[in-house]
Amino acid sequence: MSAQSLYPGIYETDPEIAELCALENERQATSIRLIPSENYVTSAVLEATGSVLTNKYSEGYADKRYYEGQAHIDAIEKLAVQRACALFGADHANVQPYSGSPANLAVYTALLEPGDLIMGLSLPHGGHLTHGWKVSATGKFWTSTAYEVDPETHRLDYDAIRKQALEERPRMIVAGATAYPRTIDFSAFRSIADEIGAYFLADIAHISGLVATGVHPSPVPHADVVSTTTHKTLRGPRGGMIMCREEFAKAVDRAVFPGLQGGPHNHTTAGLAVALKEASTDAFANYSRAIVDNAKLLAGALKDEGFDLVTGGTDNHLILIDVVKTTNDAVAGKPFAKALDRAGIVANYNTVPFDQRKPFNPSGLRLGTPAVTSRGMGDVAMVFIAKAMREVLDNLENETVLERIRNEVFDLCKVFPAPGL
Ligand SMILES: *Cc1c(COP(=O)(O)O)cnc(C)c1O
Repeated sequence: MSAQSLYPGIYETDPEIAELCALENERQATSIRLIPSENYVTSAVLEATGSVLTNKYSEGYADKRYYEGQAHIDAIEKLAVQRACALFGADHANVQPYSGSPANLAVYTALLEPGDLIMGLSLPHGGHLTHGWKVSATGKFWTSTAYEVDPETHRLDYDAIRKQALEERPRMIVAGATAYPRTIDFSAFRSIADEIGAYFLADIAHISGLVATGVHPSPVPHADVVSTTTHKTLRGPRGGMIMCREEFAKAVDRAVFPGLQGGPHNHTTAGLAVALKEASTDAFANYSRAIVDNAKLLAGALKDEGFDLVTGGTDNHLILIDVVKTTNDAVAGKPFAKALDRAGIVANYNTVPFDQRKPFNPSGLRLGTPAVTSRGMGDVAMVFIAKAMREVLDNLENETVLERIRNEVFDLCKVFPAPGL
């Protein structure tokens, strides 16, 4: 579709941006999206996100604002909060964080003093920057120490984490990951935190859609605070959210506003309210189960094609390939990701645990099934993807082969149109 017909309003004012938006629409429609943190929101979520709510300032919280004219905004934010609490079984929810990183910053601001010790999963082992990694503000304003996965199994070793926590006595323990393909035992983290009187933050940014539907065990009964993005498996607009026990509600709210942010992004709040309503349906529960079924199918098919997977498989939406091991040191993650992209398969290069290579050119490739599952792809598509990935790996510089796969990808995408495009 032309930029003019897709984005008539933008086109009239700014054809250059309309053209680029149309090209991105086309790219999303015709490529296989395997980045595990990405998804396709529904038209309903897109509409809310593009609504006139972007025009309104609403510093404060429902019924306690610093600007007039909030009748409808208050109703929308209340619905988002109620739906979040109902869906996750939480006492309290704050839906205002601009994204996942500011949400985590708000949690530390709420509960810690500057310089307190945070203990989170090491970034190259699958943790997130905002779990106290040194280049992140969270590792500058607070002291941090990192736990790692087991050197043999590459899984979390709760005995080792407990031992480290007893030695280092962090004020807060963070569970959650951005590249961990296995189930996380939140109750184990709770008992470790209890032993040393630490706070326990569960960051479920990647898995919140799976948690909402019971496909991954919930941290809500165990954690003091649960943070999440809203745009990954939860399939809402880009944003962040914090849920907590009632006793921390005031501190969390104050940390978000006025501690760190000004006016909430009301158009995002409306999109989130819509996404939370969608996430409470049977259809979404089926979708969540299908994400994990597809991930297991894809992992199995990749192993059949000779790929080496970190931990040997997956329990969730995410798969981590050790490309260097798969190819006996011949190929790293980045050139593989770049060749895949030329073939219409979009994933991202990533470190693997104990990676010997640098983060900008690491050994692994990270992929996930939330987006392809949103398109309704299933077992046949997963086998196609695994075989195509093997062919790309064997033909990194053979543009004829990459072009042929690109055309096959194009045909597959036509059969499974993405929501919202
Ligand atoms: C994606 C992610 C975040 C950060 O979210 P942004 O919206 O990119 O700021 C935080 N924590 C984890 C575990 C994540 O995967």
